[in-house]
Amino acid sequence: MKLAVGTTYIHNGQLVDGTGAKPVPNGAVLVRDGRIEFAGSATDAPPIPSEAKRIDARGGTIMPGLVEAHFHSTYFDVAALEDLDIKYPVEYVTLLAASNAKLALECGYTAARSGGSLFNIDVWLKKAIEGDIAVGPRLASSGREICGVGGLMDWNPDFRKIGMDGLVLLVNGPTEARAAVRKLVKDGVEWVKTYPTGDAAAPDANDHHTLCMTFEEMHAVVATAHNHNLKVTGHCRATEGIKNALKAGYDAIEHGTFMDNEALDLLLKRDVPCVPALYFELASVERGREFGLSQRVIDGHQETLEGGAESARKILQAGGRLGMGGDYGFAWNPHGDYAKELAFFVDYVGFSSLEVIRCATKIGAEIMGRGHEFGTLEPGKLADVLVVDGDVVEDISILQDRTRFIAVMQGGLIKAGQLA
Ligand SMILES: [Zn+2]
Repeated sequence: MKLAVGTTYIHNGQLVDGTGAKPVPNGAVLVRDGRIEFAGSATDAPPIPSEAKRIDARGGTIMPGLVEAHFHSTYFDVAALEDLDIKYPVEYVTLLAASNAKLALECGYTAARSGGSLFNIDVWLKKAIEGDIAVGPRLASSGREICGVGGLMDWNPDFRKIGMDGLVLLVNGPTEARAAVRKLVKDGVEWVKTYPTGDAAAPDANDHHTLCMTFEEMHAVVATAHNHNLKVTGHCRATEGIKNALKAGYDAIEHGTFMDNEALDLLLKRDVPCVPALYFELASVERGREFGLSQRVIDGHQETLEGGAESARKILQAGGRLGMGGDYGFAWNPHGDYAKELAFFVDYVGFSSLEVIRCATKIGAEIMGRGHEFGTLEPGKLADVLVVDGDVVEDISILQDRTRFIAVMQGGLIKAGQLA
């Protein structure tokens, strides 16, 4: 991805640097050749070259670009799980994914980690974005997900004769689990996304207290992935599934819904990050009926919501790391709503806005393994910067309104916002 050439001076706004530190009033950021040269109080800024381009934050906020830590570029706002892999051909889903990536950038998300993709679309979407062929967040890809046969993602009955090959690699036993990871290695993914547990979405055979992979399968996935320098994560709701994942050596936990003290200890021992993706649950409860979800499914989402919120509070209080990502791409939780996750964590879960911003920037970048490159406003980092018209610390819901973005920058280049 190209970097800006020359200098840009962003001024006249509070500086929120993404580390969790208190905002710096009258802050400023100096960008040189796409990287941050200075970030701090305007009174401490070095001399500003006369030819520098100036961006006036209009008394608003200067902050790091947001990181969506659980992004499904290929989920096209589906109302039913079955729609995901059979409604459209791969050619059209690829175009939808490119459109979703552009939307995410316009929403202030300058980076995103894939939480699973149809076919190998996110791997190539990432290449297109890195090559400035498409616009979107800097991506970490994961390609197809892995699930045990008969588990959550194996929803199409056999009589339909649908192989599920676009969405998920179905495995029986550690040998097949290893083969699935080896296929993903060849595909070029960075993260291997697995399904250790079920979900409220499938109350009959794979509910949120059900396991969808054995420990042996999960361990085989980790050993193979780590050998090839890939990381492993998994959809973990049930307590036992979270523990299996942590004992098997997972690098991140998605959801981490029903976390008891033993699971929490295992998480903290290796400082494994967790991405709760929780607003999805509230949206499922509030809007599920509108889209035909049964009361049983909605009740399951309510239980998931409460369990997930409690676990997130425990992790934060214990000093663990949380990423902000939201499983967007369902009809009741569509692309474009990404920042609802942030306000939800303030209003419903009880985090402070600065804590949430830290999770959505610094920790997100760390989860992607790129904390040294972006995620905070610090000298030497890529100038992935948001300039927002408003005080996002006072009212984090401002981040939901993309008309309030004065500039969304990647590497010092304005890619979206009023000035684009
Ligand atoms: Zn997901």
